[in-house]
Amino acid sequence: MSSVNTTIQLITREEAEAAQEARAKPGRAQESCSTELAKGPWEFDLAEALAGTPGYGPGASSEDVAPAATPVQGQLPQEYKDASDAELEARILAAKAELGDRVVVLGHFYQRDEVVQFADFVGDSFQLANAAKTRTEAEAIVFCGVHFMAETADMLSAAHQSVILPNLAAGCSMADMADLPSVEACWAELEALYGTEPDADGRVPVIPVTYMNSSAALKAFCGEHGGIVCTSSNASTVLEWAFERGQRVLFFPDQHLGRNTAKAMGVPLEQMPLWNPRMPLGGNSQDAMENAKVVLWQGFCSVHKRFTVGQIEQARADFPGVRVIVHPECPMEVVDAADEAGSTDFILKAIQAAPDGTTFAIGTEINMVNRLAAQYPQHTIFCLDPVICPCSTMYRIHPGYLAWVLEGLLRGEVLNQITVPEATAVNARIALERMLAALPQAATKQTVPAGQPQSAARA
Ligand code: SF4
Repeated sequence: MSSVNTTIQLITREEAEAAQEARAKPGRAQESCSTELAKGPWEFDLAEALAGTPGYGPGASSEDVAPAATPVQGQLPQEYKDASDAELEARILAAKAELGDRVVVLGHFYQRDEVVQFADFVGDSFQLANAAKTRTEAEAIVFCGVHFMAETADMLSAAHQSVILPNLAAGCSMADMADLPSVEACWAELEALYGTEPDADGRVPVIPVTYMNSSAALKAFCGEHGGIVCTSSNASTVLEWAFERGQRVLFFPDQHLGRNTAKAMGVPLEQMPLWNPRMPLGGNSQDAMENAKVVLWQGFCSVHKRFTVGQIEQARADFPGVRVIVHPECPMEVVDAADEAGSTDFILKAIQAAPDGTTFAIGTEINMVNRLAAQYPQHTIFCLDPVICPCSTMYRIHPGYLAWVLEGLLRGEVLNQITVPEATAVNARIALERMLAALPQAATKQTVPAGQPQSAARA
C-alpha cells in the first residue's frame, strides 16, 4: 500500500487509477482535502515567513488561526529540498548509524510513513515521552511529532538530553486554543463565582485538568493549582481523581474528550457548560455555572471534527457487521454512533485482538489508519472519512528536516531544540507526575464484542 503522502501526490497528478489502488479501501472516493499537501512543507515555511504570520499549513480548517507567537520554521537548506527520497533515506540511515546510541528518533502514530520508517519508537505522545526516558544514553531526542509533545519530552527527559523538533512549525491547533492568559482569566472568574474554600468533605471548588495536548505553561498551571494532566487513555481515571479532590472540574482544551469522558461517567450534559474564553462567564448564565460539574473549554481537534454520523451510517450500509472505532476527540454524536471509542493505543490493541477477517471503520488520523491497514492485512481496515485529510501540522515533518537535524548533530550542532524554562517545568512535572500515578482505565466508551478479552479494551 502506498503511503498517504504518495497517494496525495498521485491524486495531484490526476493518476486517479493508481490513487484508487493506493487507497485503504478500494471503491471509496479518492480525493484529498488539499492537493497542496503534495508539496514539500518548506514551501509553507517560506509562505509563512514572507507573510510574517505563522499558520497550520494546507488542509487545516479555516477556523484554525495560529496565534501570533506560534513558532515559524526558518528555511530548510536547499540541498535537503532538492534531495530525492532515496538520497534522503540514505543520508538519514548513514547519520543514524554514525550517531548510534547518541540519538533516539521518536515517531508519533500520525506521522507520515516516510518519517515513521526511521523511528526507534512509534507511539502516542505519552508513550513516546516515556520511551525517551528509557534511552538516557541518547544525548539527543529527535521528536517527530508536534510542539507540545517535544515540550513534554524535554520536561520528562534527563537534564543532559536535548529534544529536537525537526520542523518548528509542527504545532497543534487544538493545543493553541487554550493559552495561559485566557485560562488564568477563566480561573479568576471561577474563583469569584465559587470561592476558594473547600467543602465539608475537603473538596476544593474546582480542579483544573488539562489534556496532554496543551502547552507546558498550561500543564504548569495545573500543577500549581492542584490539578493534573490527562491523556485519551486515562481521562476517566483522571476525572475520578479530580472529583475525589474537587467539587467540579475545569477541563481544557478539548471539549470533546472532556464531554465524552464525563458523559460515560454519568455526568449529565446540562452540567457541562461550554466555556467561550471571549465571553463573560464563558457565555453561560450564573445558574448554569453554579450547577456545573465539568466546565468544558471550547477547543477541538480539526482532524477528529471531520468525522460524522453520516460516515458511520455509510460504513454500516457498505459493510454490514463493520466494527466502528473512533477516537474520543470526535464529537459526542459520533462517539455515540460508534461501537467503541478509545485512544490510538486502544484502537491498535482492538485490531490486534480481533479475529481474522474483521472489518474496521476507524475514526482517527489517516496516516495511522492506513498503516494499520497495511500491518494487519488479515482484516479490512479503512478510515471513516473518505477524503484524505492528514493532520496538517504533523505533516510539516518531512524526511528532509529529519536529515537536516541529524546531520546537524553529526557536526555537533543542535538544531531546533525545544526547551521548557525550569520555572515552568517544575510545576508542569507535578501535574505530569499526578497523571503518571493515574493508571489508564477503560476507554471512553466500549462495547467489547463477545469472546474478545477485556484487555483488548484497555488503553
Ligand atoms: S491530530 Fe488534532 S490534536 Fe493531534 S496534533 Fe493534529 S490537530 Fe493536534
